[in-house]
Amino acid sequence: MKIKSIQAFALPAAAASPYAEKSSQGRREPWQIHAEVANPMSRYPRFKAHRDSWRSDWPGVGCVVEADDGSRGFGASIFAGPVIPIINDHLAPLLIGEDAADVSGLYDMLTRLVSPYGQTGISAYAISAIDLALWDLNARRQGKPVYEFAGGKKRNSITCYATGNDTDWHMELGFPVTKLACPYGPADGEAGLAANTDLVARTREKIGPDVKLMLDCWMAFDVDYAVALSSRLKPYNVGWIEDCLIPEDIEAHHELRRRLPHQPLATGEHWYGTHMFAHAAKHRLVDVFQPDICWAGGFTACRRIAEIADAAGIAIIPHAGMNTTFGQHFTLATSNAPMGELFVGSPPGIPLEQIASARPVPVRGELVPSDEPGFGPWPLDV
Ligand SMILES: [Mg+2]
Repeated sequence: MKIKSIQAFALPAAAASPYAEKSSQGRREPWQIHAEVANPMSRYPRFKAHRDSWRSDWPGVGCVVEADDGSRGFGASIFAGPVIPIINDHLAPLLIGEDAADVSGLYDMLTRLVSPYGQTGISAYAISAIDLALWDLNARRQGKPVYEFAGGKKRNSITCYATGNDTDWHMELGFPVTKLACPYGPADGEAGLAANTDLVARTREKIGPDVKLMLDCWMAFDVDYAVALSSRLKPYNVGWIEDCLIPEDIEAHHELRRRLPHQPLATGEHWYGTHMFAHAAKHRLVDVFQPDICWAGGFTACRRIAEIADAAGIAIIPHAGMNTTFGQHFTLATSNAPMGELFVGSPPGIPLEQIASARPVPVRGELVPSDEPGFGPWPLDV
């Protein structure tokens, strides 16, 4: 079975990001419309108030791989602007005629093909879309859901946590675990440190002692700030603090681990491929790896990362894994993936299934992936 064609294209907004669909029907606007979230650009006043003031508006990317026996697979990623030409102009023509069943070998080829311009960042988004399409194609060809094709489910359902600052809505939906986006960072000084502490304290009070609570810091901190905030948060039993540092600053990750030996740490949504994860595992820099299956290099990259993690006793919980069928199948098939993350950006009051039409959603915090072939129904007709 040879690869006949690979075609990438821009996704319509609804197919790319169903959870971000705008709706005025909720009981109030979702948190992320107005909330400030600490971020790497927070030091620049004109971009500080909202992440969307500086993030690209490139649409999502779809990718269809077709084999010479007519079987097809669908994968997806983001950042269509630069990712589509990497796939269509460079990678796709070079893979025509290769064995579509050799997914692991093709991943190795892809990571080497992009070497002249770098294996991480934008290249990894392109690799992810192709790799996910190959997994979909191969599983569909055998009439199996991907989790079955990947060796079988490791549990009957996935326990999910909700990410976002509409905590009351998460509790109403029955999530046993919730994660806040941290509003302030070093640019906000002492007042911001106090406000962050207050948000966590109020949230802990609201959810009680039994719900697990984490804090996402989206690359906004330096080591000193993360240490200071962690020590203030001690009374509130924060399950982990996440993504505190500039992802490429590996020395800072070493320093943070050294200074916070007892604070659980999670990171990896902005790490790509396997090398950073291998380094972090070797030095036990964090407790949870969070690669994004649509960004880090697809199902194959995440499998390799999961095995690296397991060898070091580290868990893998893919970034926003429950927001895509890709992450759902991966999590169900992976022994050391104890939970799934659902980013909740939809208006409180609107049932999750109403927002994610074709994609399974958690019910009282438990999610059962589709058992249809491949990753399940495609989000659009192509
Ligand atoms: Mg995160």
